[in-house]
Amino acid sequence: MLILQMELEILGSGTSHGVPVIGCDCAVCTSRDPRDNRMRASAVIRHTDGRTILIDAGPEFRIQALRSHISRLDAVLITHSHADHIHGIDDLRIFSHKTDMPIYADAVCLNDIHDRFSYVFSESQEGGGKPHLKLCEVIHGQAIQIAGTDVLPVLVFHGGLPITGWRIGDTAYITDCSEIPDASVSQLRGIKNLIIDAIRERPHSTHFNFSQALEQIERIGPERAWFTHITHDFSHTGIQEWLQIHAPGKKIEPAWDGLIIPVHE
Ligand SMILES: [Zn+2]
Ligand SMILES: [Zn+2]
Ligand SMILES: [Zn+2]
Repeated sequence: MLILQMELEILGSGTSHGVPVIGCDCAVCTSRDPRDNRMRASAVIRHTDGRTILIDAGPEFRIQALRSHISRLDAVLITHSHADHIHGIDDLRIFSHKTDMPIYADAVCLNDIHDRFSYVFSESQEGGGKPHLKLCEVIHGQAIQIAGTDVLPVLVFHGGLPITGWRIGDTAYITDCSEIPDASVSQLRGIKNLIIDAIRERPHSTHFNFSQALEQIERIGPERAWFTHITHDFSHTGIQEWLQIHAPGKKIEPAWDGLIIPVHE
């Protein structure tokens, strides 16, 4: 069996405001630990042969792409249409000069993208730079090949909103989530790496908090897990300490911008 090596890099591990929060002078927002700088949640998957797949294109996509030296993009997977996950879509134009950039998402999300970026899909004068996008619908639970990679879109709930978690090989990326149906847990069986929404310690109506994220990690059973979509309530080291108390001996960590996780198909 041919095992292709890939890697997933966390481009952003922050909640919708990002950390630091504008105007906030709390200990986390003023921290000198670079891991306490959390851009809006996003990730990139790179094959050793150069193929590159982005998950979500948030408002900081341009900065993230520059910082992580993204010079090629083959496809974009979108979890859902909230602003912190799609408002960088215009900056995909640099990657879509020659061919349309395929955007994979569920039907509701694609519809929202079409509305939000209506100028992309309407006739306009020559010279007005805009991205060239090809909207590609995925069905939850049905595996597809994207840029030569087997990808499984998995149904999860973000409050009452059905959205998409993504499984790529032995790794799953599940952000903005407050419920995972049993059928989706079955589809995640056998993963080694899980990146999961864990917004803060206090409860939240549309996101797992730390304890709920731990329950889901237990339920899914990956070898390693990372919290993402994190607020400024806790510093990176503060979450590490919290985990030492609440999940001793488990391979669970807060994600940070720049974290690289090896992925196998
Ligand atoms: Zn979000
Ligand atoms: Zn703060
Ligand atoms: Zn959201």
